[in-house]
Amino acid sequence: LYDDACSSGGPGTGTGAPAADAIRVFVRVRPLSAREQAAGGAAARACVSVAQERAVVLADPAKAGQEPFVASFDHVFGPEAGQEELYAAVGSQMVDNCMAGFNSSIFVYGQTGAGKTHTITGDVSRAEDGALAEQCGLTLRVFRQLFDRITGEERDGVRYTVKCCYAEIYNEEITDLLNPGGCGLAIRDGDAHRGVFVEHLSEHMAVNADDVMRLIQKGSANRHTAATRMNERSSRSHSVFTAVVEAHERQPDSGVTNVRFAKLNLIDLAGGERVGKSGATGDQLTEAKSINKSLTTLGRVVTALTEGKSHVPYRDSRLTFLLKESLGGNSKTSLVACVSPSEESVQETFSTLVFAAGAKKIRNRAVVNQDTVGDVKALQLENARLQREL
Ligand code: ADP
Ligand code: MG
Repeated sequence: LYDDACSSGGPGTGTGAPAADAIRVFVRVRPLSAREQAAGGAAARACVSVAQERAVVLADPAKAGQEPFVASFDHVFGPEAGQEELYAAVGSQMVDNCMAGFNSSIFVYGQTGAGKTHTITGDVSRAEDGALAEQCGLTLRVFRQLFDRITGEERDGVRYTVKCCYAEIYNEEITDLLNPGGCGLAIRDGDAHRGVFVEHLSEHMAVNADDVMRLIQKGSANRHTAATRMNERSSRSHSVFTAVVEAHERQPDSGVTNVRFAKLNLIDLAGGERVGKSGATGDQLTEAKSINKSLTTLGRVVTALTEGKSHVPYRDSRLTFLLKESLGGNSKTSLVACVSPSEESVQETFSTLVFAAGAKKIRNRAVVNQDTVGDVKALQLENARLQREL
């Protein structure tokens, strides 16, 4: 039984030494698909079940008579769990963290077809009455709530900017999903303010959730165009939607502006299936190995972090370098491991659950990102006033 203490989650205090926060780890079991049901036999038989919303039970038919594999997580969502339920448990805390100035990341992990894109993106269209489509995933739900909170705070005089970018990592190469001309982009390890970022990635200002919806639609369409051209590229690439949220609050007495900023990452990982099973050879195999390099390195990073190794191989792949802060660094991070319930996928489901159980042991140290800017003149005047008083 994988049953280490689960994380408590929630924003930290932001004062003194940052508390070590466990990564929050969730599992989502999707319903049997129409294809699995139609195929009948093992494909149509479910081998995964949920116990008391916290544990997942996997009964491998090849190990009949043995104890099933059981692992516990922060929450396990069964096939009946809807998108709003996912948002309430996984996404809403991310909004709180972001508004408090913490970097926040959500990863979706799992084999192709397990429900990663459904969970993180889903249907990003609006229903008739302007409400989000029922199948809308975490990203847009997070931004809708984020902009509601921003509107509330702007009434109190705080000013916000939200800048978004959307990148794809395919074959260890970074492409700009919002500016398809941008490919072969480089990662830079910036200053404390910027952190790690992709150089020359286009940035897009968003003032409401509709702006974000259009950006996701545009980026997803670019991912899909590539998919038809390049043989299911989307299932073998990682996509990273990032928003930098900055809050500017002018202090009326000093004239100084306090700036709080947080980076939000929503990461749709490539399918975690093994190369051997896909039957890839030649160029396809080279491609599969290179694509899996990011995922393999992700596994090694998780292992190094949980074993407390002094060297963590972040720089061995684009994905782990770009998301260094989200893994063992300055970030509040959640992982949603997606699995199919079908017996046909028992091996992939097992390896997904083992990866997720390992990720539970990572501890991040998030701090509130804040700074003061500008109005040097006001500061000098205030300084002069204080000196006079003394
Ligand atoms: P992945 O991104 O992991 O390859 P997808 O998210 O594209 O997988 O899901 C594969 C298919 O299964 C899609 O048609 C999707 O709509 C459907 N699906 C996935 N998860 C669920 C779920 N929880 N409920 C209903 N349909 C789902
Ligand atoms: Mg997908």
